[in-house]
Amino acid sequence: MACTLHVAWDERLTGYDFGPGHPLAPVRVELTIALAEAFGVLAEPGVTVAAPAAASTAELELVHDPRYITAVRTGVADVAFGLGTPDNPVFAGMHEASALVAGATLAAAAAVWESRAQHGVSVAGGLHHAMRGMASGFCVYNDPAIAIRWLLGQGAERIAYVDVDVHHGDGVEAAFWDDPRVLTISLHEHPMTLFPGTGVPEDNGGPGAQGMAVNVALPAGTGDAGWLRAFDAVVPPLLRAFRPQVLVTQHGCDSHRLDPLAHLELSIDAQRTAQARLHHLAHETAAGHWVLTGGGGYELVHVVPRTWTHLLAEAAGRPLDPGAATPGAWRDFVRARTGARPPETMTEGAAASFSPFSSGYDPGDRVDRTIMATRNADFPLHGLLPSP
Ligand SMILES: [Zn+2]
Ligand SMILES: [Zn+2]
Repeated sequence: MACTLHVAWDERLTGYDFGPGHPLAPVRVELTIALAEAFGVLAEPGVTVAAPAAASTAELELVHDPRYITAVRTGVADVAFGLGTPDNPVFAGMHEASALVAGATLAAAAAVWESRAQHGVSVAGGLHHAMRGMASGFCVYNDPAIAIRWLLGQGAERIAYVDVDVHHGDGVEAAFWDDPRVLTISLHEHPMTLFPGTGVPEDNGGPGAQGMAVNVALPAGTGDAGWLRAFDAVVPPLLRAFRPQVLVTQHGCDSHRLDPLAHLELSIDAQRTAQARLHHLAHETAAGHWVLTGGGGYELVHVVPRTWTHLLAEAAGRPLDPGAATPGAWRDFVRARTGARPPETMTEGAAASFSPFSSGYDPGDRVDRTIMATRNADFPLHGLLPSP
């Protein structure tokens, strides 16, 4: 089905740049947009592209402490605010670049809420680690949380946030820890082996909101079949039970086996499968109201551009043939821009198949124990049975 999609994009978004050698290199979004353009995704009927405005101070204050915003604006290294650390070095124009990222995700959310498009996407967004008063994990302003709080302010009563980044979506979870209007679901590598060291199933929400913070903490080494089995066992039942008015999704692609910062073993084909599932669930459970962001992803040439080009095409309702060759002009651009050898097709040839949890719980399997821990912690609070 073709869908209407608002793409909040401006080349100035590549100004969110912590400098040479930092893993979050803006070339990843540059190569993504170039690949999507080479496939004609952004020129499809029903797709609109517009430059967003930066988030205002009042909008940033929906989530962030005014003193922290002042510190970012001043650009002074202060570890009390998480600024000037190896993860979050201060850079010139940091406030303006970070506010523009937040503005892009707000623009995507506004397009959806105001019914100008069914879906809205902010590929430079997804900075899910930023806390109320602190930068964290390459994230200055928490654009998904700001957009969700804006939607609540517009009158939304139930919003679901699904985060498939390999890292726990801790900042978004923290922002809505006590808020029963927001269901957060994060699938991530177990905190024992990965930053930020949080996100166990037993941490499931504050008073009055228990079961609203859902954590799937997957063992290092989990591959396509296990990850997709866990996704399928947790995400669709909860979204069907919660019936959000808006689905917000964060699509960090650092779950890929080539990602240098983490230890899951997914393929692009599995990531694409999850994108398609979330798209379908947005229509099935949220009347098609779908706000999407990028997120982490540190393999800049082979993983991020293809994964998020698939995401943009999926959100336009015109998924790309995974077997398609990457356009020659894009390959030339990659060589010129990075010196790296570009990927030649849009697939890695992975089957991206899995057997569903409903086929039976295997207590000897680490992924199944993970699934069961999450379902035990949260499913009864949503009127669902934990057992398959
Ligand atoms: Zn759609
Ligand atoms: Zn990440």
